Amino acid sequence: MTFLNKQLIQEEVYTGILVLNIHGVLVEVNNHFLDITGFEEKDLLDKEFDCFSINKILSKDDNSTFGNYRSLLTGKDGARFMVKICYFYQRKENIEQIILFIEEINDVDTTTESIIKQIFNHTKEAIIVTDNRGFIQTVNSNFSSITGYSEEEVIGKTPAILNSGKQDKSFYKQFWQEIIDEGCWQGEIWNKRKNGDIYPEWLNISSITDVHGQISNYICQFTDITNRKKSEEELHFHAYHDSLTSLPNRNLLFEKLRHLCVRHEESPIYFAVLFCDLDRFKVINDSLGHDVGDELLKSVATRFKAKLRDNDIIARSGGDEFIVIIEGKKALTNMDKICLQILSMFDEPFQTKYGEFKTSISLGVSKFPSDSTDITELISFADAAMLKVKETGGNHYSFFDLKEKMFIKKRLELENEIYQAIEKQQFEVWYQPQINIKTHEVYGVECLIRWNHPEQGIISPDLFIPIAEANGSIKKLGYFVLKTACHQLRQWRLSNLFTGVMAINVSLRQFERNDLLGQVKKILAEEMIPGNAIELEVTESLFSEGNNYHIPILSALRELGVTVAIDDFGTGYSSLQRLKNLPIDNLKIDKCFIDNIEHSPEDVAIVMSIILLSKTFKVDLIAEGIETQEQANKLRELGCYNQQGYLYSKPLNSHDFELWLMDFKGKQQSE
Ligand code: C2E
Ligand code: CA
Ligand code: CA
Repeated sequence: MTFLNKQLIQEEVYTGILVLNIHGVLVEVNNHFLDITGFEEKDLLDKEFDCFSINKILSKDDNSTFGNYRSLLTGKDGARFMVKICYFYQRKENIEQIILFIEEINDVDTTTESIIKQIFNHTKEAIIVTDNRGFIQTVNSNFSSITGYSEEEVIGKTPAILNSGKQDKSFYKQFWQEIIDEGCWQGEIWNKRKNGDIYPEWLNISSITDVHGQISNYICQFTDITNRKKSEEELHFHAYHDSLTSLPNRNLLFEKLRHLCVRHEESPIYFAVLFCDLDRFKVINDSLGHDVGDELLKSVATRFKAKLRDNDIIARSGGDEFIVIIEGKKALTNMDKICLQILSMFDEPFQTKYGEFKTSISLGVSKFPSDSTDITELISFADAAMLKVKETGGNHYSFFDLKEKMFIKKRLELENEIYQAIEKQQFEVWYQPQINIKTHEVYGVECLIRWNHPEQGIISPDLFIPIAEANGSIKKLGYFVLKTACHQLRQWRLSNLFTGVMAINVSLRQFERNDLLGQVKKILAEEMIPGNAIELEVTESLFSEGNNYHIPILSALRELGVTVAIDDFGTGYSSLQRLKNLPIDNLKIDKCFIDNIEHSPEDVAIVMSIILLSKTFKVDLIAEGIETQEQANKLRELGCYNQQGYLYSKPLNSHDFELWLMDFKGKQQSE
């Protein structure tokens, strides 16, 4: 029984009329509706009418409710058309019914419609159009390709079918609030495809209002951002990992360390920072090529991963430096053992395409919180401890000594200042004469660099050269010394003040990347001085085992006429036998054998053997660090006439050296 006049329903009205019961089930339908949809009555009766949701009405508590909305109807033959649905709800004597009046909307310009349809289906985004209650009216083809649902499957349902469960209720609450307030929402959400896959999408929802300002539809546009997300994750991975070894990089290390520090505020934690630096890696890298270097670094990373516990952190902080964090109070008391284990990782040789070869590592350890609770400081303390190991030949470990804190802080300051100091011209080259005491001539001058620091005054090279070597500024500094010395030599040669040999100290690191030879050639040409007017002083370690690649550079330098001296001779460990084949011209007997030469028969014996050696191999000889006349006499007695030391002159700046030289020459003439 309906409240509508049966006749009215069956009359020839141009409106489709449907009567639904309170469960949304169709109980009556008129002919016009059957005409426009092509259905027969039996197709529809006793079935739910899916363009209408009963809930909308039931949620209202007044007895009669009406409203209207637009919807897409699908006819029996699949054709779809837009209709306007007016609904009217009534309750009387415990019977509740909903009457729907359905009118076709034909006033759409078909050409515009087809254009819209084209755009709709060709846009890169998936589109859902819902009615004002969120029921899906239409979707485009991209919707289907992203979600896997066909249009038929979703029409009349709500987008909640895509719900992944990844967003909680409060998310949706805020989401709807924003749509209500702002008319739109956009952001990233996780949805679920038909096959169950969860995927991220970038969603843009906006509401559409009709001429009365009422919301008529919602349009949801979204794109699948799985790929973008993946590349974001990759980017993130690269930002926090070293691409060569896949180990965490310095950024991630610092993040983890900060995390540890935060935990420390809650309850005390203990950890050690191990600064690990491969020995002679630069040499390997430069002489055998970067791919061999890379191979080595990867193998080292693999050994580290295998050796350390899962909760230890191992990061590659750059170049051949690795930083290990070992957590735990017990581990801290066990550090010796742990360090030895790391050193033993290098017992076995590494396999590379050049075959097997061995290397070692130097470790410096600092401890949290006892050494410092500042991350940067802790790392530089461990670094400093590591450098001490390097200074004594590497392949060992050492703990940071709190007593050195001030020293290291100062060192850090200098390290930061050194590059600028070059630009600010705070470096000076000083000169110390080398005298042949038999001929009484100044045959050579050694160049010694000084840092004229604005606050600290003159800083000794013993203090800053190791820093410059460690941070790489030695190359710039070395170039400065070469250029300044050669330029000075040219002036002296032009004024005939000094025409001897300028001895220039070069660091082992200046041989890296082969630029030393090029620099020397260039400067000699610029200053128009012959190669044999300069001598390069190198240390014995340049010739230590495995450093053979320096030899061709030295040989090329000697072809220019440049001579090569071994500095601090006798203190290194190079076998005397090796001397025979080395491209050298001069030996500088180290000061330590001179200091006690009048009293120590051993030192005399050493000096005598060096003198003999120089004669055998036909190389020159000079003794340095001579402070007293007695030392000078003793050396003369042994047959060593080339001498350098405070006895004759301390290193002097160019002006003072010129005065000294004129004075020296004056004395010679008056004698
Ligand atoms: P070195 O090459 O062995 O230089 C000799 C050092 O002994 C110089 O110290 C010199 O001033 C000092 N000396 C000379 N005669 C005497 C003496 O009679 N008694 C005493 N007690 N000392 C004497 P300096 O100038 O402080 O240089 C220290 C080291 O720094 C040098 O040792 C050298 O290894 C390095 N160095 C200096 N200038 C340069 C440079 O331009 N480049 C490089 N790579 N290293 C440099
Ligand atoms: Ca020297
Ligand atoms: Ca020396």
